Amino acid sequence: MEIFVTPSALQHHLATLHQQGKKIGFVPTMGALHEGHISLINSAKITTNIVVCSIFVNPTQFNDPKDLEKYPRPIEHDKALLTAANCDILFLPEVAVMYPNNDPHWAIDLGNLDKIWEGKHRPGHFQGVTQIVYKLFQLVNPDIAFFGQKDFQQIMVIQRMIKEKALKVKLNIVPTLRSVDGLALSSRNARLSATGLHKALTLSKALRHIQQHVQTKDIPTLLTEARAIIYSEEGLELEYLTICETTTLESTTKIHTEKDYVVLIAAWLEGVRLIDNMLLQ
Ligand code: AMP
Repeated sequence: MEIFVTPSALQHHLATLHQQGKKIGFVPTMGALHEGHISLINSAKITTNIVVCSIFVNPTQFNDPKDLEKYPRPIEHDKALLTAANCDILFLPEVAVMYPNNDPHWAIDLGNLDKIWEGKHRPGHFQGVTQIVYKLFQLVNPDIAFFGQKDFQQIMVIQRMIKEKALKVKLNIVPTLRSVDGLALSSRNARLSATGLHKALTLSKALRHIQQHVQTKDIPTLLTEARAIIYSEEGLELEYLTICETTTLESTTKIHTEKDYVVLIAAWLEGVRLIDNMLLQ
């Protein structure tokens, strides 16, 4: 795996590969990699010729400075995982490289998408996400970018940015990888105790309850039952739980057969904020 720390060296290298007609796949991450990230690398390996992974803990998407400070950064472990997954290129820039002093102010119209759910609870988060993903897209110029369904709202936001900026990149959405007992893999899980990891299973249990009963029960009942599942576990604090349309992310009180829906959840546990989602059929 080749490692680049400066944009110019990376761009120079990728330009040559592009000229050779190689299809470039891109997996942006914040590191603290786990098998969920590696499933994105694997998808990229299958559909493209050269896989570029970036690791950059992006300060502009953290609304809570403590969260930024506590974000795990096990870089040697990350490199070993990427090497084992046959990732071709790792881009590992410093903050000052991605955000020079003269960096222009970033503001993009994301409609309602950065005002609801994650956007409401993490003000500025999606402006920061789009800012860094746009910068990375400009540098890598990928044919296909790979994102996890785990961050469902993020995908909608990136899709909107691609449209707003008329970018050519295609998005490939990779299903959420879970532990055998259902917990969505997340870098933040590393901050949970063994008890916390067990309690966190309640999130996917509540989502699965909704998924399994959506054909037979109405939405208010499903949400009440799912909340009861969450609160049966001491220490979990629900931030939001909603069933919404997949495209607008507007919450719904009724399922219409011609539309697609997703259930979104965010909760706090042991000072760690966890998110998850499941698509409803
Ligand atoms: P992050 O490093 O948390 O910013 O995540 C980088 C990418 O990995 C994002 O596209 C995430 O949606 C994706 N990702 C994180 N966790 C998982 C998972 N459990 N399964 C699949 N993709 C994931």
